[in-house]
Amino acid sequence: MGNANDLRAGIEGGVRNLVLVLGDQLDHHAECLRQLDRELDVVLMMEVDAEASGGGAGIRSHKQRTALFLSAMRHFALELIESGVRVRYIKLDASQNTHSFGSELKRAVRVLSPRKIRVTHPGEWRVLDELTLAAKDCGVELEILEDGHFFVPISDFAKWAKGRKSLTMEYFYRDQRKRLGYLMDGDKPEGGDWNYDKDNRETFKSAPDVPSGYRPQIDEMTREVIDLVRTRYPDHPGSLDQFIWPVTRDQARRALDRFIETRLAQFGPYEDAMWTGEHVLYHAMLSPALNLKLLSPRECVDAAIKAYEAGKAPLNSVEGFVRQLIGWREFIRGVYWTQSRGYRDRNGLKQYGKLPDFYYTGETDMTCVRECLKPVLDHAWSHHIPRLMVLSNFALISGVHPRAIGDWFFEMYADAVDWVTTPNTIGMGMHADHAVVGTKPYAGSGKYIDRMSNFCKSCVYDKNKRVPDGKGKQPCPFNTFYWDFLIRNEDCFKGNNRMAMILKNVERMSKEQRAEITLHGSRLREKFGIGAISS
Ligand code: SF4
Repeated sequence: MGNANDLRAGIEGGVRNLVLVLGDQLDHHAECLRQLDRELDVVLMMEVDAEASGGGAGIRSHKQRTALFLSAMRHFALELIESGVRVRYIKLDASQNTHSFGSELKRAVRVLSPRKIRVTHPGEWRVLDELTLAAKDCGVELEILEDGHFFVPISDFAKWAKGRKSLTMEYFYRDQRKRLGYLMDGDKPEGGDWNYDKDNRETFKSAPDVPSGYRPQIDEMTREVIDLVRTRYPDHPGSLDQFIWPVTRDQARRALDRFIETRLAQFGPYEDAMWTGEHVLYHAMLSPALNLKLLSPRECVDAAIKAYEAGKAPLNSVEGFVRQLIGWREFIRGVYWTQSRGYRDRNGLKQYGKLPDFYYTGETDMTCVRECLKPVLDHAWSHHIPRLMVLSNFALISGVHPRAIGDWFFEMYADAVDWVTTPNTIGMGMHADHAVVGTKPYAGSGKYIDRMSNFCKSCVYDKNKRVPDGKGKQPCPFNTFYWDFLIRNEDCFKGNNRMAMILKNVERMSKEQRAEITLHGSRLREKFGIGAISS
């Protein structure tokens, strides 16, 4: 692999198509690259400050996330150049230049005078709009190609969703199983059930002995990028001390193979478990490589099913993995593109609290939150239960503004791309989308965290209390906030059958009990810097 300076391949002569490859489109099999004419077409790749700094929106991307995108892009560009493709590559440097997709596209059009601009469908409304406007300003046709990385074209999802009262992932998933034929026995699901979640809720009795995952060597190109990110974004959150991500397709494929060989078999049963100091457990950690398109979901599904057929992994593990890829991931993308641009600003429960500072520092006395923040700050990643049932749950029940926690997830995770992060946080995590994604909020008390982890054993708070009783430890904030959340949203959740059981417990509370919870909830909000919930 050559040096980053090799990236500026000479570009001369007339250009037919200017083919844009964005940072999350590193797929050598993408249609726009398959159709590429090496003599007449030029690939344009751009490192854009707005992607790390939020284009003025106050987003500060985690250092490790930025380093991953830049290193993967540079490696991909070099692979294209080595295969004879003409590439115009715009690099960020240590200066504070702030070019955008739009400005760089216009500059490239001025220099190369292409007849057409071609791009794979971007993963974000903002980028789609920016490119569309820039092409219009230049007077050049912009052709947007379907992203063949995904199983379901956006238009097919729109047809599936049309006329449904609510969008239920489980039905979408079953339709995909039937359509694609994965884990099917004729027209019946393999093993008789569509999903095996009931078998996937095991917890650990003692510290698990987990096989290590694949860790790629850091080469000169990645080191250069790490130095650049340190210099250019010193105030951005997160650490670069241990960069752990695959940055090439070859490395991503090795990470997939290692997961299939060593962790897939245990993935299912312990999918929801958490343990102090063990942040990966049996999870794949493939979402960053998948979302950058270094890996295809088809090859991941094929590898897991092959392991099942060879008797190397049980059905509950393989079905859980396949469901994430052909079910949840595709469903979430469909929701993103069939909802409006304003989806990210939805605030169905009308919460306006601030995000506590400890989300950026990890400094909190709540053991569960501290433990779940550690891998995020160190590696820009955590598995789905710390995301959903600890970090997002805390924001939901304590009254944080959905956009504040949504932006945080976008900044802090290596796999964050808008089509996946926004519906997962605004819809699933914060129940702010008027129940488009979930018919019930993912809200939980300390009881759930205690059941799925060992965190409560070493915590300064009492997992069994919800208000102070004048002796011993203070009550678990998750308990106080959980009941406070239910009390303040009681009217909103009335009529929701899935909330009926739990609301009965609220109905049984006396006025005094409710007042005590509400009062302690507002004291805790002050303590954590969340402030008032209402605007
Ligand atoms: Fe978290 Fe509450 Fe358990 Fe402490 S007691 S670890 S705050 S759930």
